[in-house]
Amino acid sequence: MSSTASRALVIGLDCAAPQLVFDQWLDQLPTIRGLTERGAWGVLRSCDPPITVPAWSSMTSSRSPGSLGFYGFRNRRDHSYDKLTFADSRSVRVPRVWDLLSTRGRPVIVLGVPQTYPVSRVNGVMVSCFLTPDTETSQYTYPAGLKGEIEALVGRYLVDVRNFRTDDKDRLLAEIEEMTEKRFRVAEHLLETRPWDLFFMVEMGTDRIHHGFWRFTDPEHRLYEPGNRFEHAMLDYYKRLDAKIASLLRHADEDTAVLVVSDHGAKRIDGGICVNEWLRQEGYLVLKEEPAEPARLTPDMIDWPKTTAWGEGGYYCRLFLNVAGREPEGLVAAEDYERVRTELKEKLEALGDDQGRPIGTLAHRPGSCTRCATGSPRTSWSTSATSTGGASARSAPAPSTSSRTTPAPTTRTTRTRACTSWPAAAPRPGAGPSVRSWTSRPRSSRSWVSRCRRRWRGAPSSEPRADGGDVARWEEAGEP
Ligand SMILES: [Zn+2]
Repeated sequence: MSSTASRALVIGLDCAAPQLVFDQWLDQLPTIRGLTERGAWGVLRSCDPPITVPAWSSMTSSRSPGSLGFYGFRNRRDHSYDKLTFADSRSVRVPRVWDLLSTRGRPVIVLGVPQTYPVSRVNGVMVSCFLTPDTETSQYTYPAGLKGEIEALVGRYLVDVRNFRTDDKDRLLAEIEEMTEKRFRVAEHLLETRPWDLFFMVEMGTDRIHHGFWRFTDPEHRLYEPGNRFEHAMLDYYKRLDAKIASLLRHADEDTAVLVVSDHGAKRIDGGICVNEWLRQEGYLVLKEEPAEPARLTPDMIDWPKTTAWGEGGYYCRLFLNVAGREPEGLVAAEDYERVRTELKEKLEALGDDQGRPIGTLAHRPGSCTRCATGSPRTSWSTSATSTGGASARSAPAPSTSSRTTPAPTTRTTRTRACTSWPAAAPRPGAGPSVRSWTSRPRSSRSWVSRCRRRWRGAPSSEPRADGGDVARWEEAGEP
């Protein structure tokens, strides 16, 4: 290796779990093990919240979610109760590493990196990510002609799998394998046919296989059954992935910095907190009428003039205060804002599991964990509960331990991380939102680095972009 690499090959494995890759399986993953032996590797701290959107954009722009202005892939459009936007590439208003290199005339290949749909012009090629609505009708490549080239190579290209929370595990596994196989074939093709100083790809299959198969692999999971037929599905997938990475590394010469990175880790979930249900039980959220049975919570069910706060999130939760003069039917007076916010933070942090055992809940004010917090009307509305089966806000007729809407049993390992930030002072009417919280995903994700060198330095180059996309088409997508 020369002392100064002139180009970089970055392989992103979404959700790669360090306790699997490093602690359990490293000896069975020769390519990755080789990288750890020849290079440097270690724990990377993800952003807050540690979730796909915004983590990849944080990594590629050196901005915190607070300064990027989005904290998940659903965000509030404004201070209304029901308008959401989807944080696709149009929400990223700062240059990412490929933008900076493009302005310097350096050739880039960008493949599958989250928040690259719609695609943008680069000095090279870009194939968009899992946020692409439909590869048949959407333009997912730059330049446009690359789409036909890809389809001639692999047929139907997959940006993601369908419904990764399905019970049809055979279909899911086959689709993950197909997606990953095609992505790496496209990666090889681009490496062979295009010039590049930066090659940056992200594989989503690692995330999807964790969502779908964790319980079949982890003996600690409450649903684990020894000897089940999917027991080795995740390991087998990682082995195939390792071989594919080996193929890509053939394109790395002595002057290439190789980085294998992830945006967050993974762990089993034994339970979750239905934050909106908890708010309801605590009197912070009031419904117009009690539903006859557990139902998905929608804004029209809420008695807004009587409601103090509501939650949004999937594997994490943000809380919003219903502020007088700001939200349409706001309740919290400006002078009460900080008191209510502190009260919620303290109560959430004291929240135990169904047995009352502490679960290490943390609540943050956004300003305490990000250097700045912007774009706040783009913070979101919606969900609270976290489980492997999805995350939808539900409300129940009454507290009941058997109801799926009760604050669910949270485990020793499932912590709640709540984040509140925002201007320290009480909000002015019309100013940004208020309290947010999130339950944690494991934050650490390790990366290992071989021949890393940063050659690029910032130079603002991004053009103003249109507002974010419409969330409606993503309703069923689920938080990645
Ligand atoms: Zn991710």
